Amino acid sequence: MLLGCIADDFTGATDLANNLVRGGMRTVQTIGVPRQPLAGDVDAVVVALKSRTNPAAEAVAQSLAALDWLKHRGCRQFYFKYCSTFDSTPAGNIGPVTEALMQALHCDFTIACPAFPENKRTVFKGYLFAGDVLLNESGMQNHPLTPMTDANLVRVLQAQTSLKVGLVDYEHVGQGRERIRERFSQLKAAGVRIAIVDAISNDDLMRLGRAVEDMALVTGGSGVAIGLPQNFANAGLLKATDTASVLPRPAGLRAIVSGSCSTATNGQVASFIRAGGAARALDPLKLAAGDEPEAERALQWARPVLAKGPVLIYTTAEPHRVKAVQERLGVKDAGAIIERALAKVARGLVDAGVGQLIIAGGETSGAVVQALGIEALRIGPQIDPGVPWTATVGSRQILLALKSGNFGAPDFFNKAFAQLG
Ligand code: ADP
Repeated sequence: MLLGCIADDFTGATDLANNLVRGGMRTVQTIGVPRQPLAGDVDAVVVALKSRTNPAAEAVAQSLAALDWLKHRGCRQFYFKYCSTFDSTPAGNIGPVTEALMQALHCDFTIACPAFPENKRTVFKGYLFAGDVLLNESGMQNHPLTPMTDANLVRVLQAQTSLKVGLVDYEHVGQGRERIRERFSQLKAAGVRIAIVDAISNDDLMRLGRAVEDMALVTGGSGVAIGLPQNFANAGLLKATDTASVLPRPAGLRAIVSGSCSTATNGQVASFIRAGGAARALDPLKLAAGDEPEAERALQWARPVLAKGPVLIYTTAEPHRVKAVQERLGVKDAGAIIERALAKVARGLVDAGVGQLIIAGGETSGAVVQALGIEALRIGPQIDPGVPWTATVGSRQILLALKSGNFGAPDFFNKAFAQLG
């Protein structure tokens, strides 16, 4: 096993695994730290945690447990994956987890780079852009759990860690491996331990990948991972394979469960409904009053409709409606109540014969995958950048697409099913 990865949410883990598979690495995503040995040959493992919004001490403990498991598998390099929109307030976990992993690996310098240009996440002069605008103007300032109100990543990360944070800016990244490494040395000499790195294109990420070949710990979004397989291949450690993304044939009925309130998901839900898709919203306030009847009614509605085509059950809502619910229920309770209900809905759908399931939302995916008792996923072909189809490993075979909130084209749901034939 060459690369050991720890991801702070489940959609992000799939996104990372997708990039490694496309780089020719045989990759398995596990749901939490595996309890059993992994079968078959793998070059990379992505341990998916649901730690993004946990208290920092919990996120650190979970991440260290994952690291321990990966270290015992002999991984040569380690990767801490977080969101390409950073999704981390000043109380967030990226700083504390990075610090703890560095300490455990005796690593005195690492990078932090959420750039994922294929999905229009770019970093320039330390500022994170989503599409054409700064992160804090992109809709992420309204995220239900992790509102991002500052796009300057040096500042955001520095607020979370006692280690000194610096910047490798575009001037160095654009000039290739040696200039980037020179900059690493300069920063290290100045006491910096974590460097935000600019990247606006895949070429930048490939150059960065070469520069971090001997770094024990790399941290970032999924984008930085596109530059890592080349290092293992150059060292003769990676055998070329074209079977990295083959999945079993699809079977069973089709459904979508959406708890993401991100801008892209709001558009995808609207687009699915406009195209005539069968959809039903769950009311968070009714769920809070005792979620049994509301979730059960949605399942009763879905069972006869499923035979005719994909059904969508969702709590996805515009920011003002999310805010109103949060004011009534509290941010954490609203999230937890809704996640629990959607997980129950997903379980009910699978029991009703769904075998092809899309989940929209990182936290939502975590709740659903845990409720379904899934232990590991094999990564299949990409639907849109950052989102592949996957297949569960184990007894109950389901094809799953875990879609991070802001990923995917407007017609993502129908497009994903069309890809399965
Ligand atoms: P994303 O990938 O878009 O960030 P997540 O699933 O990670 O989506 O986060 C969305 C959070 O918002 C979840 O905790 C979910 O339970 C919560 N949520 C979903 N719908 C609503 C709603 N209508 N009102 C308030 N919170 C909601």
